[in-house]
Amino acid sequence: MAQLQRPEIAYMNGKLVQWDQAVLHVGCEAVIRGLNVFEGVKAYWQPDRSLKIAMAHQHYVRLCRSARLLHMPCAVTYEEYVSAIDQLIAALAKPDRDMWARTTLFAIDGHWGDNTSTDLVLTAYHQDKSPSKPIRMGVSTWRRSADVSLPPRVKTGSNYEVSRLARIEGRTRGCDDMILLNPSGRVAEATASCILMVRGDTVYTPPPSEGALESITVDAVESIASSLGIVFIRRPIDRTELLIADELAICGTLHEITVATSIDGFALSEKSPILGAIQRRYLDAVRGMNPHPAVELTSLPSVRGKQ
Ligand code: PMP
Repeated sequence: MAQLQRPEIAYMNGKLVQWDQAVLHVGCEAVIRGLNVFEGVKAYWQPDRSLKIAMAHQHYVRLCRSARLLHMPCAVTYEEYVSAIDQLIAALAKPDRDMWARTTLFAIDGHWGDNTSTDLVLTAYHQDKSPSKPIRMGVSTWRRSADVSLPPRVKTGSNYEVSRLARIEGRTRGCDDMILLNPSGRVAEATASCILMVRGDTVYTPPPSEGALESITVDAVESIASSLGIVFIRRPIDRTELLIADELAICGTLHEITVATSIDGFALSEKSPILGAIQRRYLDAVRGMNPHPAVELTSLPSVRGKQ
């Protein structure tokens, strides 16, 4: 699983700041109610030695959608969003590492929805270029919340309290990541990614109405599967289907497609032929080795010349 190490610089209040200066007031709603919405974006080195972000526009649109659902104004334009990522990544980029940036709108003023104002804050972390190693998974006793309590469709930090509990539980059971069921006991998603399941020669994933985030990577995978001639279906998944699945993987911006070797101690195919093929095609697309129409890449102009 991807690791995040503390960087030296962050982006806040429209500019780069030292890490220790990127602070929020204890009285703001971002601190007292965890009011924020965020996106994780990944930047990959390309064959022409430029660094590009995958799906920047889709992430910006989802950030605005999450903000809207929580009645948080988003004063940042798409151009300002990309420029902020460009500035921070240019300051931190290293030629041998890709980068992942957390881009968060924090509620810095206002209360209970009155006079809310927000600030875009970014932190960015180096990432290994090697494809992620297979993981062991389990099904958590914790549940993804319902749309009428804390909507999973909203990408807000407070939705990750249950993910944190599930990961802590997972560690005690020797699992690298955990699957959260929805309130009806069907599969929702993993702690920070969606679920892909193979039975026979078909890939299945639960739709957002089952408690999964509206995933940008799953949309790309659906299109990649279609170009590879693999059938891809969105439908509810029962817990027991996981245990008899032929292949399983988590799927998201940070974890890309990371295949699982076991689920609650049940062994899965070591080779993951179908999800492995999708993973390779996805990585070739984000790295610009073999572009795919469903994988959009956005240049970071300030990074040029840093390699
Ligand atoms: N579910 C959760 C809870 C996530 O945090 C993520 C990562 N953003 C995903 C699913 C996958 O979404 P995406 O493919 O858009 O990164």
